Amino acid sequence: MSDDCIFCSIVAGDIPARTVYETDDVLAFLDANPLARGHTLVIPKSHARHVGDLGSELASAVFDAVAELTPRIQEAVDADAANVGINDGEAAGQEIPHVHAHVVPRFEGDGGSPIHAVAGRRPDLSDEELDAVADEIADATGA
Ligand code: 5GP
Ligand code: ZN
Repeated sequence: MSDDCIFCSIVAGDIPARTVYETDDVLAFLDANPLARGHTLVIPKSHARHVGDLGSELASAVFDAVAELTPRIQEAVDADAANVGINDGEAAGQEIPHVHAHVVPRFEGDGGSPIHAVAGRRPDLSDEELDAVADEIADATGA
């Protein structure tokens, strides 16, 4: 628990939220400023800022919840699809420093965009550059 974290305060019950799902490790509640009907946030109950800070058990628990909830949310609000995403870090748009997955229901003709719209200018990478990037990431992951 982090003292000045809004989502920790929601977990503690100090700030009200429209909870839609809860397990020992995970809480899901409606986003207070929804991008769509049914926009839901899925969070680990214990405080972690970045996805990389989650241990594997908690990471699994969060993604299990996302996988279980996404079709149920869609059904509940009669959506046609959903975007699932995490803003991981300030430069990516993370405003609340407690990991949360957004589940945003999508509707035919809602005027929204695919998740590809979140990034800035697309880089124009040659095959050699793509090979080098793949090598760098593979090295970093120990693959
Ligand atoms: P981020 O930009 O960090 O990925 O998203 C934070 C999300 O949390 C935003 O969509 C915002 O509307 C939502 N949010 C911020 N404060 C509260 C709150 O106190 N309660 C709830 N339910 N959602 C919040
Ligand atoms: Zn927190």
